[in-house]
Amino acid sequence: EAKAQGANRLRVYKSEYGEHVSKRTKLLFDLKAALHNQRLSVVYQPQFRLSDHQLSGVEVLARWHHPEEGMIPPDVFIPLAEQHGLICDITDFVMQTAIDELLAADLLYTHFPRVSFNVSAEDFNHSQSTQRFLHNFAKLPSHWSVVELELTETSALLNLEGVKNVLSVLHQRGVQVSLDDFGTGYSSINTLRLLPIQEVKIDQSFIQDITQSAQDARLVKTILAMAKALNLRVVAEGVETPQQAHYLKRAGCEEVQGYLYARPMPLSALVTFVSNLTSSKAQR
Ligand code: C2E
Ligand code: MG
Ligand code: MG
Ligand code: MG
Repeated sequence: EAKAQGANRLRVYKSEYGEHVSKRTKLLFDLKAALHNQRLSVVYQPQFRLSDHQLSGVEVLARWHHPEEGMIPPDVFIPLAEQHGLICDITDFVMQTAIDELLAADLLYTHFPRVSFNVSAEDFNHSQSTQRFLHNFAKLPSHWSVVELELTETSALLNLEGVKNVLSVLHQRGVQVSLDDFGTGYSSINTLRLLPIQEVKIDQSFIQDITQSAQDARLVKTILAMAKALNLRVVAEGVETPQQAHYLKRAGCEEVQGYLYARPMPLSALVTFVSNLTSSKAQR
């Protein structure tokens, strides 16, 4: 009896496993098709300076609206793309689409002094990596200080030599580098020694409880002090409440990003958002 049960359980496990595999395989297949047919899109999340509430930048985030499954979050399809050699194509799509859209809407330079892109280890791993970046930014006027790459420590350390080589070229052209999800890796501080970095983004997991947890508050203060000493810009991500913003402002954090200010949005909404900001300023 027990044996039969065991066999049963094994069968159940197998079929669940099989389902899991084929679901991922289908998702991968669909992702390839979406990429090929340009059915991915991008959204934009504004960043603000706390001192004067001016726009300081905008982060570009990839979106995939699956025809049957609905929105598939980037935390699902980005790792899938990374594992199956699709991420460079996604990066090219995201960068080119965002630059086209922002230039066409006349939002870059005029309203957003900076546009940030998320990049993966694989984006630095090929002989043509540098060329791809140069090509993706080609429509921008030649000094590229308007462009920022957001790199996580994990992806930076996966391929440190590749990252260094590509960044040394991009750096000469003005491109900025931000260390994303700062504080969550094993050696965030060491990464700062290894790469030319101008900004850190404090991970949202630190921001979440700053007004309740004295420990988290002290950690954030320590990151801010370190960044100041190293002359790095700091952006706090995932700011959701006025209390968090108030705390960050008093602690000397320069820039913020989060649902409190704006959610990620498509270009049309971004245009409206910016024009509302401008008109409310004109009324003051
Ligand atoms: P990330 O770069 O750390 O981006 C921040 C994430 O936090 C975004 O999730 C954003 O929508 C979300 N967020 C922003 N403000 C708030 C807030 O106030 N509260 C909360 N709870 N969340 C907030 P999203 O868009 O789902 O992206 C998740 C991750 O996927 C990104 O984390 C990034 O690592 C990756 N990703 C997204 N787009 C791309 C891309 O084009 N290329 C690569 N390589 N990775 C991407
Ligand atoms: Mg990011
Ligand atoms: Mg982050
Ligand atoms: Mg992240």
